Amino acid sequence: PTRRWVGTSWKMTKSRAEAEAWARRVGPVEPPVGVVPFVMPGFTMLDLVRDALGTGTAVRLGAQNGHWADAGPWTGEVAMPMLVEAGVSMVEIGHAERRAWFGETDHTVALKVTSAQRHGLIPVICVGEPAEVRAAGRSTDFVIDQIAAALADAPTPAEAVIAYEPVWAIGAEGRRPEPGELVDVFDAVARRWPVGEAIAGVLYGGSVDVDNAAELLGVPGCDGLFVGRGAARAEDFERLVEIAG
Ligand code: 13P
Repeated sequence: PTRRWVGTSWKMTKSRAEAEAWARRVGPVEPPVGVVPFVMPGFTMLDLVRDALGTGTAVRLGAQNGHWADAGPWTGEVAMPMLVEAGVSMVEIGHAERRAWFGETDHTVALKVTSAQRHGLIPVICVGEPAEVRAAGRSTDFVIDQIAAALADAPTPAEAVIAYEPVWAIGAEGRRPEPGELVDVFDAVARRWPVGEAIAGVLYGGSVDVDNAAELLGVPGCDGLFVGRGAARAEDFERLVEIAG
């Protein structure tokens, strides 16, 4: 691949002090050629992390969600133009936790992808099958359908990043995948949306850490990693960025 992406979402973790220390340490990192690091803090810490990363940083700033409307009476939501003003260049859309708990659907994901791209943000579109779909042998169809729905109205699909995060592999209750379990989905996605032509990259997420990163990056069609717990420590994130080189 021409580019490799190594990102982390902090989800609903970290105090301001922890966020600042992480970003001050990681900001000056010089990634291997072609590796694009990114971090997605909580909304209240976006400015703080942007400043702590520093002006010359290679680390892109992302948000964990964004609304589809440019402005309006949407209590509790944050619009894409607000993210742009905060210095954000990437926005996560449709994480499994949001689909499970906050009513995100393929439809709202598509609306958000469209809005993100209209405002020049790179959407990181999260997809992935639940355990029962995997058990039924339908993972590939499920993921293909999610991506097709998310990109249905995207103005520039070639600049969208996909994060394949099987629900059964995410978080403390998740199971570390064997790389072989991921091959079919990555293969099917790569055939349907060639990287560089139809899409900017396909990342793997779910129980990634410094110990399994290299083998997961070795899955054909895997263009990077999207990491939660395994990148909470700055030194681990730096290590993941190196491994991706
Ligand atoms: P974990 O790496 O903690 O399993 O979380 C993955 C994830 O959901 C990243 O968005």
